[in-house]
Amino acid sequence: MTLSDSNQQLGIIARLIEELGKLPGIGPKSAERLAHYILTADKKQVLSLAECLRSVKESIKQCKVCCNPTENELCLICSDPRRDSSVVCIVEQPRDLSSIERSGMFRGLYHVLHGKLAPLDNMGPDNLTIDQLMLRVEKGDIQEIIMATNPTMEGDGTSLYLSSLLGPSGIKVTRLARGIPSGSGLEFANSQILADALEGRREL
Ligand SMILES: [Zn+2]
Repeated sequence: MTLSDSNQQLGIIARLIEELGKLPGIGPKSAERLAHYILTADKKQVLSLAECLRSVKESIKQCKVCCNPTENELCLICSDPRRDSSVVCIVEQPRDLSSIERSGMFRGLYHVLHGKLAPLDNMGPDNLTIDQLMLRVEKGDIQEIIMATNPTMEGDGTSLYLSSLLGPSGIKVTRLARGIPSGSGLEFANSQILADALEGRREL
């Protein structure tokens, strides 16, 4: 039986519940509740959501410089002349960038790796945006790189790997202070903790 056969057999409502259940943080009960909400909600509102989902996937690409998702060639941060382009903060995911932005403490630019080194999950250097990072480094405008990967074993490993890669460039490489609980992620840290972690960063 192919996937589309099984979807047809499931019926469209059951399929909706199944699709919603694939979203992060949505368990089977929430998926069912959302599905029933969609069934009874105003048609215009639901179609507007569907259209929004479609256009996000069709029009969003990676920023040419920092690899953050954007509608344009450059993201809003990279194209903001008030940002300090001599400091670059390296994060694993766009959601980590959002957390640091919310802290309001950082005025430099970012680089989004879109993952971390995780040999057990087959995530090697080629799966991350390291080539783009090295191109930025070669341009010579960067004076400091802040490693803001998550305080997990893999996040630390990624940060160490990148530091060794950046060593010959002579750029100052720092790591966020240990304010964020080990094993946790930047996305869960509150703004004050992140602001402190940035303020107390130390050289690697
Ligand atoms: Zn950008």
